[in-house]
Amino acid sequence: MKTAVEIANDVQTGATTAVAQLDAAYVAIEARNAELNVFLHLDKEGARKIAQAIDARVAAGENIGPLAGVPIAIKDNLCQTGIPTTCSSKILEGWKPPYNATVIDRLVAAGAVPVGKTNLDEFAMGSSTENSAFGPTRNPLDPSRVPGGSSGGSAAAVAGDMTSISLGSDTGGSIRQPAAFCGIVGMKPTYGLVSRYGLIAFASSLDQIGPFSKTVMDSAVLLEAIAGHDPLDSTSLPEPSPSLVSHVNDGVAGKRIGLVKELYEGADESVINAVMGAVAALKEAGAQIVELSIPELRLGLSAYYLIAPAEASSNLARFDGVRFGLRVDAEDVTAMMEATRTAGFGAEVKRRIMLGTYALSAGYYDAYYGQALKVRTLTINAFQKAYAQVDMLIGATTPGVAFKFGAKSDPMEMYLNDVFTIPTNLAGDPAVSVSFGKGEENLPIGVQLLGPGRSEASLYAAARVLEIADGRS
Ligand code: GLN
Repeated sequence: MKTAVEIANDVQTGATTAVAQLDAAYVAIEARNAELNVFLHLDKEGARKIAQAIDARVAAGENIGPLAGVPIAIKDNLCQTGIPTTCSSKILEGWKPPYNATVIDRLVAAGAVPVGKTNLDEFAMGSSTENSAFGPTRNPLDPSRVPGGSSGGSAAAVAGDMTSISLGSDTGGSIRQPAAFCGIVGMKPTYGLVSRYGLIAFASSLDQIGPFSKTVMDSAVLLEAIAGHDPLDSTSLPEPSPSLVSHVNDGVAGKRIGLVKELYEGADESVINAVMGAVAALKEAGAQIVELSIPELRLGLSAYYLIAPAEASSNLARFDGVRFGLRVDAEDVTAMMEATRTAGFGAEVKRRIMLGTYALSAGYYDAYYGQALKVRTLTINAFQKAYAQVDMLIGATTPGVAFKFGAKSDPMEMYLNDVFTIPTNLAGDPAVSVSFGKGEENLPIGVQLLGPGRSEASLYAAARVLEIADGRS
């Protein structure tokens, strides 16, 4: 399938139309959606209106924007006016947001056409999309395997050639891990770079929205279109969207790149081989490789599984049967709330709410939540120390390739899949996963590049070197 850059160029020059691109996207979606369960909702009418308006503007000689007429898939935890937004939870049944997330407005302003909402782990809690109340998404590369999670639907939409680009959210790895499992590019931007207005909150000190795409260039184009200050999000960085596209082909000559032991040790042999292959390719392109050990990163997972559930327990208190979606009637208000939350939330969400409530309770706050915050500070300091020595870090995205359904039935095993992605979220720094090499059964492997805050341009330049070295020009 064509890249977003190619589609936008074809629409702008009149070689194709936005409506034709949209029709083609729906044909591709309908061919495989029953099997793969990628989309929970398609907005055919709304998308057609947007596409028709673009075609009219092209005909009038207007310059549409970098994503002119490009169909895009949207993770179903992002609000779009009047379109069901479920977070893959029964608790939001029937709820339609009265407003657009800022990223939706920015996409449309850049010419993109949102086609529908993609499946995820309920409230973005999970690493396989098996926690969706609406059934799992299947990996388009091997439908007996998971696409990763929580943004599994958005990754599968791109890997399955339904759309060239999509949006996901990453709290502990939910963009990078599914990108790795589906053989595509996934970027978790710097905390605050992309407005989260209209993203349904999971863990507010960690959540970020970011792009999926087949190519590094498409990722840069998409991120540039959605990034930049938004007065509607108080955590949004104060500056406008950075220049990313113009740096994609900068290369890595003279860059110092830290190969971090803790970001690949314990991974499958094929994954370690891929990381070493990527390191060799970067060296070949002129980078200087420095071997590093950052032991603090080993503590990240434990700290995350206290901080994220603690914040989730607070954020999810708003789903009470009064304000949104589902209500299960009962004799009084307390009983109604209990019945609603019992029926509306799935097992993993309930587990997180209980863990988080416990970690925040008066008697245990210092021992659990307080302690986790100290570990978070240690992680931030350790990354800063590393970035004083090197420009960026490299490691694996995941310990292995996409696993089979049901393979990680123990929650702890599932959590361990995020061991390499979580530390970056704790620090608020950006990281990108780019497909590099193949593992068992010819399944893709993701290599992760991490950098200090606002280093997206350098990360894309390095990812582009790997994309070329892996044989994708
Ligand atoms: N898999 C991690 C979790 O379950 C991360 C999820 C995410 O990034 N949204 O919490």
